Amino acid sequence: MTLDYKKLWDDTLAGIEVEVSKANFGTWFRNTRIVKQDNGLIVIGVPNAFVKDWLANKYHKLILRGLRELETSVRGVEYNITKSEDAKSTKIEGSTKPVFANQLNLEGLYTNREDNLNPKYVFDTFVVGPFNELAYAACQAVTKKIGQAYNPLYIYGGTGLGKTHLIQSVGNFIKNNYSNKKVYYVTSEQFGIDYVTSVQNNRANQFKEKYRKYDVLVMDDVQFFSNKDKTQEELFHLFNHYHENNKQIIFSSDKPPKYIQNLEDRLRSRFEGGMIVDVVKPDYESRLAILQSKLKDSPFCPEKEVVEYVASTIQDSIRELEGALNSIVCQSQLKNRNLNLNEVKNLIKNNVKPKKTVSIKDVAGIVSNFYNISEKYLYEKTRKKEVVKPRQVVMYILREDFNTSYPYIGQKLGNRDHTTVIHAYEKIKHDIKDNNLLSQEIEQIRTLLYKEE
Ligand code: ADP
Ligand code: MG
Repeated sequence: MTLDYKKLWDDTLAGIEVEVSKANFGTWFRNTRIVKQDNGLIVIGVPNAFVKDWLANKYHKLILRGLRELETSVRGVEYNITKSEDAKSTKIEGSTKPVFANQLNLEGLYTNREDNLNPKYVFDTFVVGPFNELAYAACQAVTKKIGQAYNPLYIYGGTGLGKTHLIQSVGNFIKNNYSNKKVYYVTSEQFGIDYVTSVQNNRANQFKEKYRKYDVLVMDDVQFFSNKDKTQEELFHLFNHYHENNKQIIFSSDKPPKYIQNLEDRLRSRFEGGMIVDVVKPDYESRLAILQSKLKDSPFCPEKEVVEYVASTIQDSIRELEGALNSIVCQSQLKNRNLNLNEVKNLIKNNVKPKKTVSIKDVAGIVSNFYNISEKYLYEKTRKKEVVKPRQVVMYILREDFNTSYPYIGQKLGNRDHTTVIHAYEKIKHDIKDNNLLSQEIEQIRTLLYKEE
């Protein structure tokens, strides 16, 4: 039997598309394709384990039926994880809105490699309220007078309050409306890593060229610049280049320039030289508006009292607000019904990260205790298996729960390189997806870490 895989799959998808919601279709069927067939057994390539599970558990019948209707020789379907690169050929129109991207950690999938911008961050989906309207207005002004209105524009505020969304929206807007402007988004960490690698490979000049060719540079999380002299010097020169040429720079940070530690004075004064605005925590009305806007395309819409409960309980971060909503919708999908208020209360109780302040030492102490090793091994060079895993768990928690910078984590845990920390973080993040024991261990550690005194 010879089959035109692409046509068969495209036709099958066309049938499935009308049977599932747009959001679900975009989330689960994007980047899938038929990779092979063997004696009537069709193998579908999927981008990751999440999608694999969902297709196998929730959509298997639909897929099998769809394929069989078109090709009677099909007997069965299997799902295999394939690299997203070679899955690119299956393009699905109108499905670029990743409603559940956060919850599924699929964010990377949607990022454009050329400019690092994530197309989901646009002004259209950004809710404006008293808590962020100044920052929003400043961003709007920048899109109207690029390089002239506020240069640099410096936006600061706590985590999860919409800084990345906002500054990427500026980038996406300019990209989509000014074809002659080249935009680039980078985190300060990535910028630092880029610089260091270019120097190590004797390519410092290419680094300079690369960063000088853009018209708009959007740099996220500049609080992580602390303590890296050479990178700061590089940014200083780059900044001057942008400024002199009326090119736009936008920075975000979790604090105002004057509170960033170890920042060179000349860079600090550059950060302060344009417009500085903050975003603060959203008020109740705004929280409600944000939840409602996120529910627009959702397959399940919780009861009003549930939405109000979420808005009144989760006050500190829009990321948490969104996370809670995603858990609710996801649970509803699994149960195929709306959750009641009590179920939601339980769900949120288990999900919201407590606000207690915790130090690196606390994390290290609790993790080493949990795994029954001596804390000092965490800081030493030893690579014994009993030590490597707890050390990786410490790194993971510091990054995931506290957004600590990779270099800082490395420095505190025995002066390790930031790449070691990135590796540890990615490894644990990956492993907890299929390793139930590990994910339970981490939840128990979190319970110990965040328990009320
Ligand atoms: P920060 O960079 O300040 O830590 P993010 O920009 O990453 O925060 O925002 C966290 C999440 O909340 C993102 O998924 C973002 O889309 C969402 N979000 C933040 N602010 C808003 C807003 N005003 N309207 C809609 N969604 C928002
Ligand atoms: Mg951010």
